[in-house]
Amino acid sequence: MNKHYDALALFSGGLDSVLACKTIQDQGLSVLGLHFISPFFGKPHLLERWSRVYGVEIVPVDVSEKYVEMLRDPANGYGKQVNPCIDCKILMLSHARTLLPQYGAKFLISGEVVGQRPMSQRRDTLNQIRNTAEVKDVLLRPLCALKLEPTPVEESGLVDRERLLDIGGRGRKRQLELARGKYGFKEIPTPGGGCLLTETESAGRFFQVLKHHPAPGLSDFRLSNQGRQLWAGDHWLAVGRNKDDNDRLRELAAPADYLFDVVGFPGPVGLGRPMPGRAWSPEAVSDAAAFVASYSPKAVASGRPVRVAAMRGPNRREIVVAPCRETPLGWAEPDTEGLKEWKVERAGLRNPLS
Ligand code: SF4
Repeated sequence: MNKHYDALALFSGGLDSVLACKTIQDQGLSVLGLHFISPFFGKPHLLERWSRVYGVEIVPVDVSEKYVEMLRDPANGYGKQVNPCIDCKILMLSHARTLLPQYGAKFLISGEVVGQRPMSQRRDTLNQIRNTAEVKDVLLRPLCALKLEPTPVEESGLVDRERLLDIGGRGRKRQLELARGKYGFKEIPTPGGGCLLTETESAGRFFQVLKHHPAPGLSDFRLSNQGRQLWAGDHWLAVGRNKDDNDRLRELAAPADYLFDVVGFPGPVGLGRPMPGRAWSPEAVSDAAAFVASYSPKAVASGRPVRVAAMRGPNRREIVVAPCRETPLGWAEPDTEGLKEWKVERAGLRNPLS
């Protein structure tokens, strides 16, 4: 049986999530941090350290499958990059609610601060998130509670409202004072939890998958996080940058994928993933093979055509190609060009009458 706690906390590892836990612990209540994991966020390797440094017990909670499903078409759209912050919060809170019985916990806490983020932390959005996640009766936001209406958690006497906080807005002064002064943390966590969906470079990788794949799955987003990414139209190629990448690409290869390996020379592994029902032409396969071979310095230095094994499921054949970076397909690294227009189009499909 799991140990019981008074509250479960959304624990990203960012400063606000830490302070929300401490504020409730200060009332003599026990808190378990839930650290959500997906291909886009989550640092499970830091849990032990965070527990020690901040004095909060934390468990990892993997929501990858349901997260990817939501990311394909979030009801409330994306933020600046491909971050679906509103639906992300809804998903985390509603998932956390399902865990309350398992830990005998009575309420949820989150480190949200009203007015801190333009999209997901406006007062009306905080209410929308709470209502859609169906956590109105159990959610408490300790850092900004005094700026919000009293919650059932406070009204029932479970938590003393007088000892909650009234932080609001974008500034971080109050949080830093608490972290350094009241709690004497030697390490001040960064404001956010580090989400790849908000970072331009990673967003470019995920955008291509969302744009070209009709129903991307977990394996697609895992692949988009691995190695050097290249796209040519809807042709997708990942090339290993080191041994770890190469091993991982082999693991990620699905039966319909093309796995490229330079024969007779050390070189990277390449993984070509066709979109569903769109097998590559023989020319495209040779093109990708030549491109992968161009990352083998010894193959290039040989100055002659080389053999590349192209494997697809149980089938293996060797292709002779001249290593080349400038191929007819024109492989290019992913970026976010066209992201804005794509989002507008998606929003139109979601709400055809707006
Ligand atoms: S930044 Fe990432 S983890 Fe944070 S709410 Fe937005 S989508 Fe979710």
